[in-house]
Amino acid sequence: MVKVGIFALQGDVSEHANMVKRLGYEVVYVRNPEDMNSVERFIIPGGESTVFAKLSAQNGLDAEIINRVKSGMPVFGTCAGMILLSSGVEQYPNQPTWNLMNIKVRRNAYGRQLQSEITDIQVEDIGVMSVAFIRAPIITEAGENVKILAYDDKSNIILAREKNILAGAFHPEITGDTRLHEYFMKM
Ligand code: GLN
Repeated sequence: MVKVGIFALQGDVSEHANMVKRLGYEVVYVRNPEDMNSVERFIIPGGESTVFAKLSAQNGLDAEIINRVKSGMPVFGTCAGMILLSSGVEQYPNQPTWNLMNIKVRRNAYGRQLQSEITDIQVEDIGVMSVAFIRAPIITEAGENVKILAYDDKSNIILAREKNILAGAFHPEITGDTRLHEYFMKM
């Protein structure tokens, strides 16, 4: 059975794990670099991107993730996960990211926690999905190899793919729709 690793140092890990299990795959909770050994695909959940960066640097998990993604392992980052995959944060140029995808992001682009909402979006190759925006970022710049898969109602980019990397600004794992996880599992 395909083993899907989920970054599990912080964030909404269990919601992604439920999606992966519902699709019939095995979940590996990744907290240390060694946990990556058996992992064939990897999900980075939402949470707090600064915390992800700090905790994963402490035990070298960040370097292991970067190596594996650069060698072609499929990865799906949502919300804070997308921020880590990006090459930089617009309003915090010194915030560390893993610089794996040719996108720039703006954190908390929709405002504060109170502006969080569940809304319908149109996803390329999938259709309409109901997803949650929780202090969500947006993609402000995308390089030419980046395929844009969804926009919000103000034409901000909120879902994109570059080769083995899929990144979304929102949470697809909270509303129970498994189609984006299925899309990722086919990448
Ligand atoms: N605002 C968070 C950050 O900047 C992301 C929020 C989320 O992942 N739901 O890291």
